[in-house]
Amino acid sequence: MILRNATLASGKRHDIDLKDGRIAALLPPSNDGPSLVVLPPLVDGHIHLDKTLLGLPWVPNRAEGNAVSDRIAAERRVRAERSVPETVTGANLVKQVVASGTLHMRTHVDVDNQLGLQNLKAILEVREQFRDLVTIEIVAFPQSGILRSPGTAELLDEAATSGADLIGGLDPVGIDGDLAGHLDPVFAIAGKHGKGIDIHLHDGGEAGLAQIEAIAERTVAGGLQGKVAVSHAFALGSVPIDMARRTADCLARAGIAIMSHGPGAATMPPLIMLAEHGVQVFAGSDNIRDAWSPFGNGDMLERAMLIGYRGNYRRDEELAFALDLVTGNAAKVLGLQDYGLKVGGPADLVVVEAGTVAEAVASRPHRKMVIKAGRVVARDGVLTG
Ligand SMILES: [Zn+2]
Repeated sequence: MILRNATLASGKRHDIDLKDGRIAALLPPSNDGPSLVVLPPLVDGHIHLDKTLLGLPWVPNRAEGNAVSDRIAAERRVRAERSVPETVTGANLVKQVVASGTLHMRTHVDVDNQLGLQNLKAILEVREQFRDLVTIEIVAFPQSGILRSPGTAELLDEAATSGADLIGGLDPVGIDGDLAGHLDPVFAIAGKHGKGIDIHLHDGGEAGLAQIEAIAERTVAGGLQGKVAVSHAFALGSVPIDMARRTADCLARAGIAIMSHGPGAATMPPLIMLAEHGVQVFAGSDNIRDAWSPFGNGDMLERAMLIGYRGNYRRDEELAFALDLVTGNAAKVLGLQDYGLKVGGPADLVVVEAGTVAEAVASRPHRKMVIKAGRVVARDGVLTG
């Protein structure tokens, strides 16, 4: 297959020659005709495949308040009433995101003393079902806390030998009320099994910042540089910028990545500043049509747009930065070895109806084709079968 007249992220035009599932050559463009943007696959650095209710009749949000603990309680009620298994809804979501161009993702999967490892097992099945289409990295996520949900530390330990790739965490102070009591088991289990860590941290202000610094300290002490991420890190956007800069240096030294989904109401970390300080930054969808959020669709180009909108990005370089959050940067955090639109790279591509990368981010464009290993797997936003 040859994709003619493709505009790459660099702005250069090429004919892309695909052979045996690889990019065989980037040739000069064969004509001056119309051109479409061709991107490497989109990467969702933070999704919750087990939580989504996608494909079910609309489920109204019934959280009684906006605190994280209110939403945990609301989700437990939804969970108790749902009759369709997570294997079905998770598969619905995987199909939807692949059709929009996502071929790699990191999903958090709830582990607590009510669920045990049931959701992990469901999402392992989904991963197996779609193994030829997408790579799925799994974080064992203590959604109900560790101390608040006795037995969860043991379950996280078991998850590490049952298919989870990383150990998660959640607001050590805000939820468990005990920084060391939460972080000690997370780091001990990750260290014991040689796993990475990805911690949800909603706690804001200086209290949140102190937790980020505690995570950095433990990361360095455990030799886990490059293997730890903090998701959300709202605190970095809620303190004076000089204070956030000092924490950025600390994150860079510890090799900790920061994930944002471009939060609507909470403060967003200053992603460009973090990147300038050498911090790896990336993006994810977070909640999609679940007990936490009625919104979301898993489209990572739309996510890049939302982050740009939230961050007041205007210039083309800023929009290109937003694209990096959902492509190359996220691929690095996920440790994808075989990624990127380059000669010899995998023939995994997304053809987008836009003239430039900036337009592709700004305009939520139509997806003409998604190509996996040289094969068209989705056309015009629909899986080919
Ligand atoms: Zn999340």
